[in-house]
Amino acid sequence: MPEIDYLSQAKELKEELVRIRRDIHMHPELGMEEHRTSALVEAYLQSLGLETKRVAGTGIIGIFGGVGAGKTVGLRADMDALPLSDEKKVEYASCVPGKMHACGHDAHTACLLVAAKLLTQYQATLPGHIKFFFQPAEETDGGALPMIEEGAMESPHVDAVFALHCDESIEAGQVGVTHGQTNAAADTFEVIIHGKSCHGAAPHEGIDAIVVVAQVINALQSIVSRNVDPVDSVVVTIGMLRGGYKENIIADRAELSGTIRTLSPVTREIVRERVERTIKGVAGAMGASAEVRLTRGYPCLINDRSMADLVVATGKKVLGENHVVLDSKPSLGVEDFAYFLEKAPGAFFRLGVKNEKKGIVHPAHSSLFDIDEDALPVGAAMMAQIATAYLQNSARG
Ligand SMILES: [Zn+2]
Ligand SMILES: [Zn+2]
Repeated sequence: MPEIDYLSQAKELKEELVRIRRDIHMHPELGMEEHRTSALVEAYLQSLGLETKRVAGTGIIGIFGGVGAGKTVGLRADMDALPLSDEKKVEYASCVPGKMHACGHDAHTACLLVAAKLLTQYQATLPGHIKFFFQPAEETDGGALPMIEEGAMESPHVDAVFALHCDESIEAGQVGVTHGQTNAAADTFEVIIHGKSCHGAAPHEGIDAIVVVAQVINALQSIVSRNVDPVDSVVVTIGMLRGGYKENIIADRAELSGTIRTLSPVTREIVRERVERTIKGVAGAMGASAEVRLTRGYPCLINDRSMADLVVATGKKVLGENHVVLDSKPSLGVEDFAYFLEKAPGAFFRLGVKNEKKGIVHPAHSSLFDIDEDALPVGAAMMAQIATAYLQNSARG
């Protein structure tokens, strides 16, 4: 098969990329409500002659059967917007008050649709198969896990999986790839301290839940500093605290909640256990008791090293040697693409969307977030080339 220049082809489709991105941008939909977006995705994939399946409510899978038995590669885009009002002064700003594509998922969807278009030209020659995953609800409860539970990674079994995310810290025209730890796992904890109420002037007759919770908060600070390897990174944040009734009543109850962020599965289990033990131990030592509820959120996102190498090689080939930002620090933010990476090796990479000259500098989740649309052909070409390279490399053995 001759060398394919996906970037030139994607640049020729820039108008179409911009049209799709702006259409979705103007009509943002929150997690599990992506009805318009998924109908658009489904119609587009079907217009390319691809078989489509609906999964996890508003999720869509496009299935591309190439040549021979071959491997199957999965490419994923998320589709949901955020509950935020768009304050950009542009003609393609959100038409829906209180909803906005402020994380770039509109761009992810546009890039993957056009990548599918680029790839279908070579359906008769590509050795293997491709699944295009259009996922709901990355920003809320997560659409990745329900898609996987409904069989997205099977029949045909997906051997490798890739996704991109807009990054406002990287210049448009570049991509960023990290080997190994890329995003954190998030767990939440909710705590109720039970004490005993009495008159505020006779504290010895009660158990003051306010004083107990103060000690609990202090003790939790020592987990990161004393229980975690200093070269590892962990966050234990208490974001909510509530308790008490009146200035002269000893409180019999106090509540707090927080989030735990960890970058490795081993550290995750250690910190979860320490948080629970510390809260119960401190409360018990002071004569109170504590109910602790720990809830698991998205897992750690860990890029497979050889798959990250494949993305690096693709970036250098498609964009040039100096256009790949290597191994920037992992983020303690979360990303539910991690669930796909628990099922198959793969990599999550960053698509540069920043352009200071155009005033495109605002961070994701900001009401002024935008992308340099010159990044769209880059994203589409990267996805198409990654799938092609993976399948060709696998066919060569
Ligand atoms: Zn986001
Ligand atoms: Zn996002």
